[in-house]
Amino acid sequence: MKKALICGISGQDGAYLAQFLLGKGYAVIGTSRDAQINSFGNLQRLELRDRVKLESMSLTDFRSVLQVLTKVQPDEVYNLAGQSSVGLSFHQPVETLESIALGALNLLEAIRFTERPIRLYNAGSSECFGDTGDVAADESQPFHPRSPYAVAKATAFWETANYREAYNLFACSGILFNHESPLRPERFVTKKIVAAVCRIAAGSGEKLQLGNLGIQRDWGWAPEYVQAMWLMLQQDAPEDFVVATGKTFSLEEFAAATFSACGLNWRDHVEIDSALLRPADIDAGRADPSKAARVLGWQAQHFMPDVVRMMIQAEKEEKK
Ligand code: NDP
Repeated sequence: MKKALICGISGQDGAYLAQFLLGKGYAVIGTSRDAQINSFGNLQRLELRDRVKLESMSLTDFRSVLQVLTKVQPDEVYNLAGQSSVGLSFHQPVETLESIALGALNLLEAIRFTERPIRLYNAGSSECFGDTGDVAADESQPFHPRSPYAVAKATAFWETANYREAYNLFACSGILFNHESPLRPERFVTKKIVAAVCRIAAGSGEKLQLGNLGIQRDWGWAPEYVQAMWLMLQQDAPEDFVVATGKTFSLEEFAAATFSACGLNWRDHVEIDSALLRPADIDAGRADPSKAARVLGWQAQHFMPDVVRMMIQAEKEEKK
């Protein structure tokens, strides 16, 4: 039985990846900064809490990383942990950089130290590309990070590439574009919109406050994206991959689709709040995920309108 260690198992991707790997027959061990006090709500929601083993591990503490790796002896490690909000990264840049860049480095160094043939997935991000304009970014697109989060993710990406080249580690990064699900916290705009629209449709009378409606993003369905992570670690050689739907929509289109799915017109319920604008933002994030299709055989099955529909359905079921 293969053993997978998921760092950051309490998050959205961690929970879906645990579900997917358990389905593949893996023994799944997950880490949280404090496994004693974490309620693991996402694992509970997917009814996985008792099917995985949980360990406390702080990625910024080398000793704790090495201790868990030595104890668990995993075949595959998925690093999904770290401060994951672009917006919050402008307010907590040091925490963001440390948890992502130092965290990735500690993990790489600890894997090298154990001298075991561990395969590592690093959670990279499309935010590293910055504004792609009309160009659909593939793996050769240069990085131009525009937030502390993106700077940290770019650092972790190059750390991973460096350990692969310098020490022959099987380590790769998935450069994932946005992927959403009912497990997203409300800090993320997609979940914020879906939750507010459902409340408005139920008669709350509130206004939904949004920032820049013109930004364009590639929004996919999170449960599919974790399959691409696993596929990357099953290849003969470690490589980096862009993972996305290949279709870009504006935030206005996302909001309009959500309101319209509940029989409402977004213009009647949305207010623009300039306090929500970021110091630097990305106008457009466009992706070319053709390498993932060609090499991994992975292609997104769900696009933005499906994501909206499935998130609304889950939100309504949750509130029943
Ligand atoms: P989540 O925020 O849902 O989960 C990340 C986990 O990391 C949390 O559950 C938390 O676990 C841990 N964590 C949070 N803050 C810190 C911190 N300051 N220091 C250390 N650990 C922390 O993220 P997702 O599941 O959405 O994403 C998984 C990974 O993929 C992240 O690295 C994210 O940046 C990246 N990514 C996500 C995308 C998306 O659209 N979802 C797109 C591209 C990349 P605990 O509290 O238990 O320690």
